Amino acid sequence: MVWYTLIQSYVLKIVIFDYIIMPLQKNFDWSDIQFVKHWSVPVQVLFFLVMHDLYIYLFHRFQHSNKIFWRIHEAHHSGKEVDFLAGSRSHVLEIIINQTIEFAPIIILGADPVVVPIKAMLDAMFGMFIHANIKVRLGKLKYLFNSPELHLWHHANYREVFHANFSTKFATWDYLFGTVYDPGHSPGDQPENWGLYYDYPKDYFLQHVFSVKRFNEQNLLKYKWFKWYYNLRPGIINSIKGFWKRKPVNAEHHFHIKTKAPQLPVLEENE
Ligand SMILES: [Zn+2]
Ligand SMILES: [Zn+2]
Repeated sequence: MVWYTLIQSYVLKIVIFDYIIMPLQKNFDWSDIQFVKHWSVPVQVLFFLVMHDLYIYLFHRFQHSNKIFWRIHEAHHSGKEVDFLAGSRSHVLEIIINQTIEFAPIIILGADPVVVPIKAMLDAMFGMFIHANIKVRLGKLKYLFNSPELHLWHHANYREVFHANFSTKFATWDYLFGTVYDPGHSPGDQPENWGLYYDYPKDYFLQHVFSVKRFNEQNLLKYKWFKWYYNLRPGIINSIKGFWKRKPVNAEHHFHIKTKAPQLPVLEENE
């Protein structure tokens, strides 16, 4: 919550809008392609919502099949607890790519500036909704809107669902392109049901280093500086928990939850 949801999203909002989109808007003449300028705000919102959602479906699917781009998506899958905050857990580069592609066209194509906060609000709402650890059955609406019943499976630690349920807002893409996995029940409530099938750092900065260079935390513990840094976060959490007189966090357990996926029937090949 501290690094991804609060600090990263605040900093990246400045980077994306002030240092990427604004210079793009100011330094080039886009007046010839501003075809959405005279549309009403609801039509503009709907247009950018559908176009960006199709893009994010395709890019997300590509990330699951490309080794390099998987490196900037695995952070999103690393959580052993999936809840409304999980949507904000994304690699810095993934956010910069996706939000630039999301918001730059809105400004460059001449949409009403109010479309930006409306779209950002819808993103936040859907992000929290599809990751929420609540049981929701949408009935027939499940063919249109994405929901936790589909997206939580996308975060499950099962090989069968690694290439399924890529949609973000409109589940229609998964139904349309044949990538839906909907067994009618949720993945489970144990930590081993969730996240990645391989060891992954728990720390925000180590996760970003891990995306560039693979390393084994256990091997690095022989270095004093690494050990100090490795124990810093559980240390801080322990002091906070101690302050509230709760049970201490065991660093070993905290960092190394074994992931063992129960056997499920194999999902049919979609691609
Ligand atoms: Zn994914
Ligand atoms: Zn997700």
